Amino acid sequence: MNAAKKSADKTVNTRAAKTGKAGKHPSAKQQTKQQAKQAAKQLAKQQPKPASTRRHSGEWSTEQSLDLYGFERWGNDYFSVSKDGNVTARTLNAQVELIDIVNGMLERDMQMPVLLRIENILDAQIKRLNMAFREAIASHGYRADYRGVYPIKVNQQSQVVEEIAAFGARYKHGFEVGSKPEIVVALSTLEEPGSLIICNGYKDKEFIELGLSAIKLGFTCVFVVETPSEIPSIIECSRRTGIEPIIGVRVKTTASVGGHWNSTSGDRSVFGLTTSQLVELVDLLKAENMLHCLQLLHCHLGSQIPDIKDIRSGITEVCRYYADLVAEGAALKYIDLGGGLAVDYTGWGSTFGQSRNYSLNEYCDDIVDTLKTTFDSYGIEHPTIVTESGRATIAYSSILIFNVVDTTTFEPGHLPAANKEEHSLISSMRDIYANLNESHVQECYNDAHYYRNEARELFRRGQLNLRTRSVCENLFLDLLQKITLITKEMERVPSDLEGLDISLADIYYGNFSLFQSLPDSWAIDQLFPIAPIHRLNEKPTRKAVIADITCDSDGKIDEFVGDEGEVARVLPLHELRENEEYYLGVFLVGAYQETLGDLHNLFGDTNVVSVRIKSEGGYDFVKEIQGDSIADVLSYVEYYPKEMQERHRNTAERAVREGRITARERQQIIKLFTDSLNGYTYFEKED
Ligand SMILES: *Cc1c(COP(=O)(O)O)cnc(C)c1O
Repeated sequence: MNAAKKSADKTVNTRAAKTGKAGKHPSAKQQTKQQAKQAAKQLAKQQPKPASTRRHSGEWSTEQSLDLYGFERWGNDYFSVSKDGNVTARTLNAQVELIDIVNGMLERDMQMPVLLRIENILDAQIKRLNMAFREAIASHGYRADYRGVYPIKVNQQSQVVEEIAAFGARYKHGFEVGSKPEIVVALSTLEEPGSLIICNGYKDKEFIELGLSAIKLGFTCVFVVETPSEIPSIIECSRRTGIEPIIGVRVKTTASVGGHWNSTSGDRSVFGLTTSQLVELVDLLKAENMLHCLQLLHCHLGSQIPDIKDIRSGITEVCRYYADLVAEGAALKYIDLGGGLAVDYTGWGSTFGQSRNYSLNEYCDDIVDTLKTTFDSYGIEHPTIVTESGRATIAYSSILIFNVVDTTTFEPGHLPAANKEEHSLISSMRDIYANLNESHVQECYNDAHYYRNEARELFRRGQLNLRTRSVCENLFLDLLQKITLITKEMERVPSDLEGLDISLADIYYGNFSLFQSLPDSWAIDQLFPIAPIHRLNEKPTRKAVIADITCDSDGKIDEFVGDEGEVARVLPLHELRENEEYYLGVFLVGAYQETLGDLHNLFGDTNVVSVRIKSEGGYDFVKEIQGDSIADVLSYVEYYPKEMQERHRNTAERAVREGRITARERQQIIKLFTDSLNGYTYFEKED
């Protein structure tokens, strides 16, 4: 890896992620919560509580885990649980247990955390998308084709882009590019002549020349005009090179759509031409005798559009533009509907921002149906349908897997038996127990708080020693645990006591960095499904939130996909067992997470492993990419590991000179330093 180049990437990405937090999304957080509440209410009305979520029996089956973590609700048929209680990844004819892959990695001395990519899933998603459009086209008697393009920005990793080119070749699946680096990627990766390359973003002359050269090579490369000022450059380059351009135009739809990313549509969208700019463009092209080059109409309603109604109304509006441009004499052939096909991260099938109320087939059906009906009524020839699905294409195929390195519980520690000499505060707290029942629960809670605070105050003033305070704190926790048990059985819980179990939830420390691997979880409170990848034949007896190992108070996950449209505040997990690793998977992380990640606390890229599941069973490691070493991440922030080593050696030599260490000790100390520089940035187990 080229460190210098990567360092530039990282700097930019850090900034992007930060602005994301500060500028773009502040209201998103509130909106999510509100939406979640509404969705919860709606769903609670509609759905009876499934029997299997009433978990009282000591027995536990893998079916209960399947339901508890919702694999089949959000997994798009790609994830399930085996009889042995392990999560499986599967496609039509092949499946593998994720824990097998983890074990295979450990045998190869690759450490957690790992970003696992499953090629078959990406392959299957590309196939599903293309086939779903083909079927909708056939069933509606639509008289043109579908052509998909993958927007490179959604996951630019070379291996991912190469896989998409390979799996998409049979459908002539193309690329959407938004910059010069991205068109360079498209040109060096696509092979199938006739594949589309859709060029969005501001284009300088070099960008335009690259696009024209793509046409020469046999690709259908379209310049989507973002502003009329791009036109003179396009005309000039085309005259100079003698290559006729294919021009597209991006329009602003006025209908605003729901979800997080709705600012890409509506009046204030920064992208797309206004109606007067559109008229100006048509006149300009007419005057240059180039109106026949205007072949594509583009719109992008936004990403992750949860409500199918918004998609339908957006498209209806785009059709109007299309029809009038045809009437103006433009030789339109393609209608490009951008991205927006949502992923149901929660599995709720609702209009909640991180869900969707439609299936892939409904999406395709609605688009084809709307286009056919509208264009038939105008008597316009059916255009080729283009979509730029990024998220839905790539999200499913990546899983972040990490081990849990430690837990904190809020269980009381040792509680000594009552004795006559104990502090009066301790005996007062013991007295609370006598009263502890449903009718006195609030009073007991208040008393417990009172005495606990008293203990803290006396400690501050030096009137209570550490041991006594510790007993008081333990009694307090014990009381709270018992109060929680009581409130669970109550019909109406006093509002003070609501969520008490959440404040007593365990903290599980995961070996990963939220900032590096799940930036959207931090920046915009994106929910990703999270579940243990093994032990699913055991009842999860703990409730926990997850903290990463960055020691940053923001580095935690305390919102989870719950059932019944609920954003859960705790995740049921298993108790850790001694000398045994516990692995969690964060699912559907293929889209947008990898390049937005930053180097918070200098945790670097994780190891990445790509596997192909074999139909005869088992899997192949297709590719392993080692995560960043400590030296790698230090060089991204302009340290020079060689120099650091030299200086460290000098410090060690001085210690020898001055008699603090021996020459042999110096050698060991230097070796430790050098090995660390070459090592992984994450928590490593000693062998
Ligand atoms: C980001 C983007 C996409 C991808 O959208 P998804 O919702 O991820 O499919 C498509 N087109 C354009 C123009 C984009 O900016």
